[in-house]
Amino acid sequence: MRPPERWPLHPAPAETESLSSWLRRIATSYGLHSYELLEHGLGHRELSDPELDLDPPTHLLEELARRTGLDQHRVDAMTMAGWVPWLFDSLVPAPGAYETYVHQLSVLLPPNRRNIYAPRTWLPWLPGTGARRGCPDCLESIPTVLLFWQLPVMASCPVHGRRLETYEGRPADYILWTTPAHDQRALPESLSLMDRRTWQAITTGSVDLPRYPVHAGIWFRLLRTLLHELTTAQGRYGRQLDDVRRVWEHCGHPFRAGLFSWQPFETLNWTVQQQLLEAAAAAMELIEAGSLTALGTAAHLLRPEPNPPISDGTRPGRPTATADAQKRPTLDELWKQTVDSLDAAIAAAKADPVVAKQLFDFARYGCRSEESVRGVRETFAELQIPLDFLSHIDDQRPFA
Ligand SMILES: [Zn+2]
Repeated sequence: MRPPERWPLHPAPAETESLSSWLRRIATSYGLHSYELLEHGLGHRELSDPELDLDPPTHLLEELARRTGLDQHRVDAMTMAGWVPWLFDSLVPAPGAYETYVHQLSVLLPPNRRNIYAPRTWLPWLPGTGARRGCPDCLESIPTVLLFWQLPVMASCPVHGRRLETYEGRPADYILWTTPAHDQRALPESLSLMDRRTWQAITTGSVDLPRYPVHAGIWFRLLRTLLHELTTAQGRYGRQLDDVRRVWEHCGHPFRAGLFSWQPFETLNWTVQQQLLEAAAAAMELIEAGSLTALGTAAHLLRPEPNPPISDGTRPGRPTATADAQKRPTLDELWKQTVDSLDAAIAAAKADPVVAKQLFDFARYGCRSEESVRGVRETFAELQIPLDFLSHIDDQRPFA
């Protein structure tokens, strides 16, 4: 006899519940283990929790959607693969992945002062081993493990306003909370706000920032960029060194989380990752309050709405301005337009030799020495604009 297509029992998944957690709860409702449900209910070999949550076979996800009547998109979103391209560009490590993800934006530091180091094989946010973290309040009410608890992208539960804690065991069977005393600090409001924004990105696809809402994909990259900038080599900070030190003092952790040598955020232990998340939250708070110098191209996203237009000298109270003058953009808006245009030009120049040449001509305008032209070329190299795009113009005027 053909087995029924739809399983009669299938508890609804919690918001952002991981596939392994949901499968376990379905299996429990039949008195089975999840490997037994995989084998007898789906004819599939056993998969470990990390295998289920990372990138399980597509046909398994399709079969699960069919058996439970759940929308395919919701089933896919229980796995990391379902978060490409919002959270990950890809789950296959590729050359240049770090630069593409982390250096696309800049917050604290101007693009030309980004760290030159980048890991060769790297995926954003994914830790090497399966992390066991959760909100004790959430787990007390229902034993579900959320996909995002496994990633060092949030440090607190936005629903209960408390830190995530580490545990051993398996929710629903047994659980032993193992958070060390030094990680049981009070939750700073800045971190709580940052995590609420991350949660908004996860659950709604966009984040309300002070200036305007941004797509979740921008938010995740903005956050990852800031985490990078806060651990970049000290020499790259230049005159901003004192500002960056102030961020670390503000959150009460040692400068650069006490790291002696640079390494990507993903490879750090959870205690250090939490310190970095706190520093990123503190930096955002200070930028938003206007008390931290942020020279990156995306820093304006964190600043509140610009002040009313700067006066052109006309005495207030005398409505002599024309309609055109009233619509005149503020300096802040003009600066944003400039930054956006430059970002777009740089992105286009990476792929188009004609745009690259135009940008190069613009950048070397006013260069009076071979050395300064060389500086422009170095900047192009740092921005990953192919220098061979410029080779055919080398024979032309050396500098304007
Ligand atoms: Zn909670």
